[in-house]
Amino acid sequence: MDRVIIFDTTLRDGEQAAGGALTIREKLEIARQLERLGVDAIEAGFPFSSPGDFEAVSLIAREVRTPVVCALARAHPDDIDSAWEAVKQAKHPRLHLFLSASDIHLMYQLKKSREQVLETARDMVARAKQYTDDIEFSPMDASRTELEYLYQIVEAVIDAGATTVNIPDTVGYAIPDEFGSLIGGIFQNVPNINQAIISVHCHNDLGLAVANSLEAVRRGARQVECTINGIGERAGNASLEEVVMAIKTRQDFFNLTTGINTVQIYRASRLVSELTGFSVQPNKAIVGANAFRHESGIHQDGVIKVPITYEIMDPRTVGIPASSLVLGKLSGRHAFRERLAELGYSLSEEDLSHTFTAFKGLADKKKEVTDRDVESIIAQELRTVSEVYHLDCVQVSCGDRGIPTASVRLIGPDSQVLADAALGTGPIDAVYKAINRLVGVPNVLTEFSVKSVTEGIDAIGEVLIRIESEGVTYTGRGIDTDIIVASAKACVNALNRLLVVRRTAK
Ligand SMILES: [Zn+2]
Repeated sequence: MDRVIIFDTTLRDGEQAAGGALTIREKLEIARQLERLGVDAIEAGFPFSSPGDFEAVSLIAREVRTPVVCALARAHPDDIDSAWEAVKQAKHPRLHLFLSASDIHLMYQLKKSREQVLETARDMVARAKQYTDDIEFSPMDASRTELEYLYQIVEAVIDAGATTVNIPDTVGYAIPDEFGSLIGGIFQNVPNINQAIISVHCHNDLGLAVANSLEAVRRGARQVECTINGIGERAGNASLEEVVMAIKTRQDFFNLTTGINTVQIYRASRLVSELTGFSVQPNKAIVGANAFRHESGIHQDGVIKVPITYEIMDPRTVGIPASSLVLGKLSGRHAFRERLAELGYSLSEEDLSHTFTAFKGLADKKKEVTDRDVESIIAQELRTVSEVYHLDCVQVSCGDRGIPTASVRLIGPDSQVLADAALGTGPIDAVYKAINRLVGVPNVLTEFSVKSVTEGIDAIGEVLIRIESEGVTYTGRGIDTDIIVASAKACVNALNRLLVVRRTAK
């Protein structure tokens, strides 16, 4: 049976999406989960674009062993050299070059003729080939490129040494039948096509990224570029979990396979959602909260009798934990550790002590601690960026009379204790003003959202914020049973992220 190569670009295209500014440590953690998930290739970043990206790519190249680690570069000598410098320590390095191909891009963006572009593509692939054998080339905006010219480019780059040719639907314009014909046409009209793998990279502007990718696979493409939860530029990319589960569930139709260890899907989805701050919509296929929830009585009755009546997939196949009710106030360290193991986490003794204390604190306030709560604790305790400032204490007074007032105490660098108080239009505004005055980094709050992690009046509140400073967006998360405290934690978290990212970028 034929195998489809799964090329994950969560760390490049996904990270590029607004507000995805991840720290290097967080990128590495996602890369490790992608390795457990069994992706064939990880596109780790675009090294020439920023020192932070360069650093992240080289770290992932050193740490990740099984998958191919790929670095993106424009078809330009400096870009290619920098990409190679970053990725060269990988066990399986790949360079991915891209260059615009459509007349629209040539005319308005590159201001070059077709012949010039063809020559650059050929020369730059040859240059990259001196570094490594594994070369991928993408003619950008392929789905809007004149066909004869597209065939010429594909043939030329394969001749120059490209081993994978990626056909991107950069602007998400294609329709499945049409995109399938485009792929079929390449197989019929490019003489040396058997010397390379055809890949596709589809965007979801019309909601067709997965459909287009699957149609391309049906017509002979053997690499799909995708992201966890479908995150990416604008409306995002093809979602990895949907592509993989479609191929697996409908093996009778596709007669194809992937190397993905599907039980790791749910964890990958949660991790990416927590770290990027892009939450997953409840009705999202495969990984949404309602994806396996049956509301209709007739359906429930059927599923209880025989699951296959209304379930085309077993939720355990994608790693969704079977039970949701877990621990309480009386649960000990052992039970906590067991539950963590069932959820797929193995923590060091030190991290375990840390999270167990946080769990006890929560169990005192909340009757039942569910899996979602446990995941939130882990996200909060282990994945937060290293703390430049620590929130020591926050207190507010508010109501419909009087002026909302907040006092805040932070522990800063060198254990310095900092305290201030501020007035605001509301309690959260007052808290933010006090914190910002203490930290002293100019920023604008661009997004603020609160949601409850679980059901019930005693649920944990999760606050997600985005702040913007010098044109870069930073996310911050905070959880607590008190949403004012959660908001303060989110604010400090975002500022810590800003400070850490800024430090590594220098
Ligand atoms: Zn893209």
